[in-house]
Amino acid sequence: MESQITGKALKIMEIAEGNLCDHCLGRTFSKTVEGPDNKYRGEYVRHALNETGVDASTADSCYICCNIFDDVENRIIDKIITKINRENIEFSTFLVGCRVSPEILSKEEEIHKNMELDVENIKKEINREIGKKLYFTFNKEVEFDNPNIVIMVDFVNDNIDIQINPIFIEGRYRKLVRGIPQTKWPCGKCRGKGCPSCNYTGKQYPETVEELISPEAIKLACGSESKFHGAGREDIDVKMLGNGRPFVLEIKEPKIRNLDLETLEEKINTFAGGKVEVQDLKFVGKDRKGTIKCSSTDTYKVYSAIVELENDINEDKLNLLSSMEIIKQRTPIRVSHRRADKIRTRTVRNITTKPLAANKFEMIVECEGGLYIKELISGDEGRSKPSISEILGVNARCIQLDVLEVNI
Ligand SMILES: [Zn+2]
Ligand SMILES: [Zn+2]
Repeated sequence: MESQITGKALKIMEIAEGNLCDHCLGRTFSKTVEGPDNKYRGEYVRHALNETGVDASTADSCYICCNIFDDVENRIIDKIITKINRENIEFSTFLVGCRVSPEILSKEEEIHKNMELDVENIKKEINREIGKKLYFTFNKEVEFDNPNIVIMVDFVNDNIDIQINPIFIEGRYRKLVRGIPQTKWPCGKCRGKGCPSCNYTGKQYPETVEELISPEAIKLACGSESKFHGAGREDIDVKMLGNGRPFVLEIKEPKIRNLDLETLEEKINTFAGGKVEVQDLKFVGKDRKGTIKCSSTDTYKVYSAIVELENDINEDKLNLLSSMEIIKQRTPIRVSHRRADKIRTRTVRNITTKPLAANKFEMIVECEGGLYIKELISGDEGRSKPSISEILGVNARCIQLDVLEVNI
């Protein structure tokens, strides 16, 4: 065994002209010599070589890495620690990545190929050695799948970059006034470039639900920007009442991750000035932003609508509406420019009505997610079947709509 090791080591040293650091020598034995790390393995093999009378003294400049591990130990680790502390980055998990010059990789590959070695490459060892030091310095865990921060060490450009992964906060919002879209709506005239009619804001509406919620969160987390993911959306002229609509707010590059969500809730609600309110804030994983968005038929919603009729009707006729159950809806005319034209089927679970006048009534509709209520009422020129207009035999129009419940 020992002679196999020294025999192999001699050949490797020959290729490297005797110049290999303990790390690079040890790495070639990472699968054959037991030990806590490659540096230990290198020392062990070097000692074994010396025992056989071969001069295997430590290299001045390593053939593979040009002593990159000295640089890591003497300079890079301190640089990373200083950067993290200076930028005041809060994290509990991290991952290290690195970029080294192509010459280092090709020289290493040359030896590995020549000796038919199947061992880890130098980048893995550098990442692990940096990771170990940071683990002991900060007492934080390395995580591969979804780390809070990724420390990228670029040895080629001598640069350290710290990528901070986003945090995701789920909550429910209520929209207590009409006329506010959920997310940014580009100006209809300039399409967002800025023009006199939008006062050079590029926006059709001065504020959005997103803009009333996100600034305080970005501020508290010291983030750079945010993205709003709603569980569907209500029309601009529709209020969102009840216990609100679920949303996930993604905050990018947050220097502070452990936010006090009660404080955040208060700050948002003060900032939004009664137009929008949030509640039930909690931290969620990044997958949630996708699952919350699908307005599938598993979701169900409750709406309150005020319906105006073209002609007066007898109150008793409203009872006919309780027969509505399966609705076939072709994509409404008003959204057909941005949604695919298709027919979908949605179920109405329950409709209750309360007359307000001979040509006006209030209606509570409980239905599957994705049903267009305004079109359920008007019929949308025959695209929604059956519709309130069709059943009552008189043109009906939704003049006010509120969402009371969104269940996902
Ligand atoms: Zn080396
Ligand atoms: Zn404009």
